[in-house]
Amino acid sequence: MKIVTKDFHISSKSRNQMIDITSQVDSAVEQSGIKNGDAIVYCPHTTAAITINENADPSVPHDILLTLSELIPQHQPGYRHSEGNSDAHCKSSLVGCSEQVLIKDGRLNLGTWQGIFFCEFDGPRSRTFFVQVRGE
Ligand code: ZN
Repeated sequence: MKIVTKDFHISSKSRNQMIDITSQVDSAVEQSGIKNGDAIVYCPHTTAAITINENADPSVPHDILLTLSELIPQHQPGYRHSEGNSDAHCKSSLVGCSEQVLIKDGRLNLGTWQGIFFCEFDGPRSRTFFVQVRGE
């Protein structure tokens, strides 16, 4: 089995933002030369996350961010973390810091409406994510 890892650097522009990174992940798969296997997309941050959802209608990421912000308010009297970004930590844990996508015939085997998003919860910041492609 072959393993190829690629690092990506992106800049978020607002405190909460979902950035479509499907084309970057696709390029990592293409460059790896791996035809069948999987790709793990991982972000090494405690206030960001990776998710897969619809990237056809921009209202979907908007509504996901709105729902997360209603579930997890930015300010709560009970928060203890002194950085003031407890909501971002909670959102990161809820959404999760990685996704795994299958690779078929050298392409990401995503559904028609699916895209891969880097989720920023404490931006704007410079961020990193890794794509590890494994297979043959
Ligand atoms: Zn913090």
